[in-house]
Amino acid sequence: MLRISVAAKLFLALFFLSVSSASAQSPKKLKTIIVDAGHGGNDVGAVGQYEHSLRSKEKDVTLAIALKTVAELKKQLPELNVVPTRTTDVFQDPKEKAKIANDNKGDLFLCIHADSGPLKTGRRQVGTRTVTRYKISYKGKGKNKKKIKTPYQVDEPIYEHFKLPLTRNGTSVWIFAAHKTSDKLRAIMQEEGEFEIESGTDSTYSSFDFNTPEGRLLAQVYAKLYQEKSDRIATILNEEVEKTGRPALGVNQRQKGIWVLQATNMPAILIETGFINNPEDERYLSSEKGQQEMAEVITKAVIRYKNMLEAPKHATDAR
Ligand SMILES: [Zn+2]
Repeated sequence: MLRISVAAKLFLALFFLSVSSASAQSPKKLKTIIVDAGHGGNDVGAVGQYEHSLRSKEKDVTLAIALKTVAELKKQLPELNVVPTRTTDVFQDPKEKAKIANDNKGDLFLCIHADSGPLKTGRRQVGTRTVTRYKISYKGKGKNKKKIKTPYQVDEPIYEHFKLPLTRNGTSVWIFAAHKTSDKLRAIMQEEGEFEIESGTDSTYSSFDFNTPEGRLLAQVYAKLYQEKSDRIATILNEEVEKTGRPALGVNQRQKGIWVLQATNMPAILIETGFINNPEDERYLSSEKGQQEMAEVITKAVIRYKNMLEAPKHATDAR
């Protein structure tokens, strides 16, 4: 195995960073967007469970919003290639979703989900019933001790249990926690030499062996660039949610449950559109109006992100 010094690693990292920032003068265009409707088929996702819930299924809500988002993106950005991961109620392994995104060489991966949370159980009295109980007493002593059961009647309450709705509501945006990038690196490295430097114009760097230490270093640099872009679009989207008056819960990072975000060789975000077990959010997510608003919010964020990405560097004001 080739050994390289720390200084050489640092030099390479700086070198590739300068290559990618130099290429920002002729920035990469946003050409292909992958829109993923979370879950599907047997994988139902979260379900409305509180009392008097509409019993909405996350897989249906995500599909409806994803289809409307695809339509809205096509309408407002006709030059864009918009690829949905699914258009019907079918099961998809996260690996399959990631493969669709990578095979289509997406420039952005939008994952649409709905949130849930543990529900508290409440109880209420719905009536009473009369039951017989026994008072136990003893008579006599020693060998002659006898147990005496005296029956008596009591009224006891009959309770009914029910699930309380979540009080929390709103939309949150998620990106993969930056410090765990191994699968993201793998996704990048699986491109095997087809991987293009940002500008796509410099043929010297358009192919690279990622199985070398310097190749791995380059992949890390790219993982970092994706992370920054993911954070950028996530922040913009959160701002657009805020404008609708819905609670915007901010940009968050996590690792669990969003494997697909790090398995894609592109900037990637996950949108928890609302809480399916909050009555207000469930009605919003299940309504044509709410779904359409969410699709328009996402489209507005994509347009702002695209403009930012494609603007000449000196004219770019990131936020
Ligand atoms: Zn989900």
